[in-house]
Amino acid sequence: MKKVVKFGGSSLASAEQFRKVGAIIHAEKERRYVVPSAPGKRDSNDTKVTDMLYDCYHAAGRQDISRKIEAIAARYREIIEGLGLELNLDSEFETIQKKFEEQAGSDYAASRGEYLNGLIMSAYLEFPFVDAAEVVCFDEDGVFDGEKTNEVMRERLSGMETAVIPGFYGSMPDGSIKTFSRGGSDITGSIVARAVHADLYENWTDVSGFLVTDPRIVENPATIETITYRELRELSYMGATVLHADAIFPLRQEGIPVNIRNTNRPQDPGTLIVEDTCRQPLYTITGIAGKKGFCAVTIEKDMMNSEIGFGRKVLQVFEENGISFEHVPSGIDTFSVIVYQDDFMKKEQSIISGIHRAVSPDSLELESNLALIAVVGRGMRSTRGTAGRIFSALAHANVNVKMIDQGSSELNIIIGVKDEDFERAIRAIYDIFVLTHM
Ligand code: ASP
Repeated sequence: MKKVVKFGGSSLASAEQFRKVGAIIHAEKERRYVVPSAPGKRDSNDTKVTDMLYDCYHAAGRQDISRKIEAIAARYREIIEGLGLELNLDSEFETIQKKFEEQAGSDYAASRGEYLNGLIMSAYLEFPFVDAAEVVCFDEDGVFDGEKTNEVMRERLSGMETAVIPGFYGSMPDGSIKTFSRGGSDITGSIVARAVHADLYENWTDVSGFLVTDPRIVENPATIETITYRELRELSYMGATVLHADAIFPLRQEGIPVNIRNTNRPQDPGTLIVEDTCRQPLYTITGIAGKKGFCAVTIEKDMMNSEIGFGRKVLQVFEENGISFEHVPSGIDTFSVIVYQDDFMKKEQSIISGIHRAVSPDSLELESNLALIAVVGRGMRSTRGTAGRIFSALAHANVNVKMIDQGSSELNIIIGVKDEDFERAIRAIYDIFVLTHM
């Protein structure tokens, strides 16, 4: 049994947090490959080391950065001393300052957060250190090369019982450092999991898993026990994030499950993310997520349904204006296109006239300030009356439903409401499925 464990920034922000991580790793000998992030915030007013590095790098060449470097070094020293380690990073910081002054690149700068934390983790656990620059490959255009990485990483880790591989970065063919987008240590963890054929990828963070809905809207929402990759994709599209979206792909290739866990509450089982499962979800729905700020462009034309190419011509106008559409609910003689309002607004008049030219509609109407809510759940397929329950809950809560779109997978129902009804609608749906669950 092999587990890859990735720890986020808040799990490694101080010596105290490192100790919790050490205890977690030592609790199971299967936890063999460790992917650390850079030290994150110790409290809500603190600054992440990655942000300190970007800031310091941008100041380099314009001012003396010695004090900024010292502030970063102090963050690491506090951890090293707190753990009672012999490690000394002075020469690393000399190199870093020199490279910053030579403007070695902001990706190089940001990557040092993970690199140095990896050195500390390796010394603390007494696991060998593997520099991600040697095993995570980007091509000459800076695009991540998954297949090459998989080969190089697999080769390097084969025969290694344990290893610490810092997250977030790799290198290009010329050796220069390249990072993933922010939060990218999650991706490194999934790449390592794929390469070593891990049985489980544990992603340790500061929440006990994925919540059924946004805790800013519903107080203390239930935790999702098991969710499929597809359900996760539907919820993440609507803005619910715990795991970097690009982390899913390498895992899907191997069907490796991910367990989201809480470093501060290791007794909690967290959320398991899987390819598929026979386990019935606790509630009919798995999660509810949503976003505000959409706009619906509704076109009406008599006999539209018999006009071949109508939809294509309308969508082409959006395409020509560089606007991607989110949904297209349609009726017999009506056709709506749902778009992000901020993007659409810049092009609205050119799109309106474009549609007139393309399909000569009888009328065209805009409805702005819409929110979309996705109710997602594999359990909806086998349960009758889900839609009925959603709509009666919304009616009771006095929410006017503006749009309904059920995905063909029967995995989700998307509902459009006015922005001002958004929170009320989510609470009503949560209450009917989770609170009154029997
Ligand atoms: N340290 C990087 C960031 O702050 C990457 C990560 O934490 O995953 O985005």
